[in-house]
Amino acid sequence: MVQRLTYRRRLSYNTKSNKRRIVRTPGGKLVFQYLKKNKKVPKCGQCKEKLRGIIPARPMERTRMCRRKKTVKRVYGGVLCHKCVKERIVRAFLIEEQKIVIKVMRAQQVSTKSKREK
Ligand SMILES: [Zn+2]
Repeated sequence: MVQRLTYRRRLSYNTKSNKRRIVRTPGGKLVFQYLKKNKKVPKCGQCKEKLRGIIPARPMERTRMCRRKKTVKRVYGGVLCHKCVKERIVRAFLIEEQKIVIKVMRAQQVSTKSKREK
């Protein structure tokens, strides 16, 4: 006859945090072995793509990990992917350039007006 298995902890509902596997002990008994929740790799805050170079872990585990395992050496490393960072840099640069262009145009207009008055 098949052996009946019972939970080994007090939590008695089939919840996400109560996942288990059946394991045979050296004594030949079948016993539940509790499983941890799936580890995940953090995603890019903008495009939701998985970030590379970061070790998958549970949030609590991550607090105990060293910095090297949680980020990459780049601005926004471990938060945004390289594509999104590049896009942001290019966008900021173009906005700054546009501001300079507007400033130059205004200066030219002022100078032409003053010439006409003379
Ligand atoms: Zn991204």
